[in-house]
Order: sequence, then structure tokens, then C-alpha cells
Amino acid sequence: MKKARGWLLIITAISGLGISIFNGTGEEIIKSDGTTFELEKVALKKNISKEYSSRELLKDSLWIDIHCSATVEDYKVNNMAIWHVDGHNWPGIGYHALIRNNGDLYLGNHLEQITYHNSGQNSKSIGICLIGDFDYKEIDDDAIKTLKALTDEMCLTLKIKGIRGHCDNPNTSKTCPGTLGYKQLVKLGIITNPNVKKFGKDFYKD
Ligand SMILES: [Zn+2]
Repeated sequence: MKKARGWLLIITAISGLGISIFNGTGEEIIKSDGTTFELEKVALKKNISKEYSSRELLKDSLWIDIHCSATVEDYKVNNMAIWHVDGHNWPGIGYHALIRNNGDLYLGNHLEQITYHNSGQNSKSIGICLIGDFDYKEIDDDAIKTLKALTDEMCLTLKIKGIRGHCDNPNTSKTCPGTLGYKQLVKLGIITNPNVKKFGKDFYKD
């Protein structure tokens, strides 16, 4: 019951915006009156003998880390789940949310789960992955609309320190969420850190 709390607050707010939301967490999102939030379900591969550890969502403030899949745009979300489970031996897909270029939103894990997506940062961050390879093209407007709605709502609902690119982590050589995608998200003010003046390694000081 407690696990579903974070998504419930966010989904309640953004479900009226015309965004298609697919629930791949494997659990219902339970409302405070005990009824379930109606979302289309999507089956994502999980390792049933493993589980991501949990955190108390509103206890500490979190970063939002933006990724891209560095794949073709029509790459199936479950193929990524299979890669993370079978290829990396993880409990399930590494991201909390994934966004297709048409703006469809997939919930991969509950926000209370400490998943694997940004080495050394996972306990204090939420991972959102844009499906596509944004080294070579910009992110489409529909995906930007969903990402903006999602991150705006997370900033209102949760304790969020700022929004970073995976590539801001000095310990990665990845361009994630892509050279063009990163520039675009900074320009749009979606990647933002109210505590520092410049982007890059300063994001990772605390
Ligand atoms: Zn990444």
C-alpha cells in the first residue's frame, strides 16, 4: 500500500492531460479509499527471486536523473526489461519511468524502490528514460510534453533537489541522454539545478 503512494499522487495529477500511461510495476496503484487507479497494464520482465530495496519517499530529497535508451525509437520497453534482468541480473528494469517519442508514459518501478540506473546515485535519485538515441536527433515534442508534465508534478509532489542528465555524473563517459537531447533539455529548463549556476560536475557535489 505504502509503495504505491508516490505514483498515485503524480498519476492523479497528470492523467487528465491526455498522456497514455502504462503500468509496468506489476502492482496496482491503490487510492487512499482502497480502490485501484485504472491504468493499462504492461508486462515487464522481472527476476522473481530478487527485489530492489526500498526507501521512504518523502524522507530525503531526491534528484531526477534523465537518461535515453540509445536505441531505435520503436524499441520495446519490455526488451529493455529483459536486457536488465537477463543481461545484468537485476531485479527488474532499471528505470522508474520511460517515455516513448510519441509521449506514452510507462511506469517501470515504484518511486520508493531504489533501482539501478546511475552508479553511486541510485539511493538518492529517480531514473527517467527517454526511448530513442538523442546523440543524433532532438527529442520530439510529444515526449518533451510528457517529461515536462512528469517532472513538474514530481517537483510539486516530492522533495526534488534538481533535474540532471546521466552524463552530468563525472563517473560516466556516456553522453546520456544524448548530446542533442541534453542540450535541448537544458535549453528548455527541464534539466535544472536551483542550487548551482552551471551544469556538469557541480550537480554531484552532495
Ligand atoms: Zn543513462
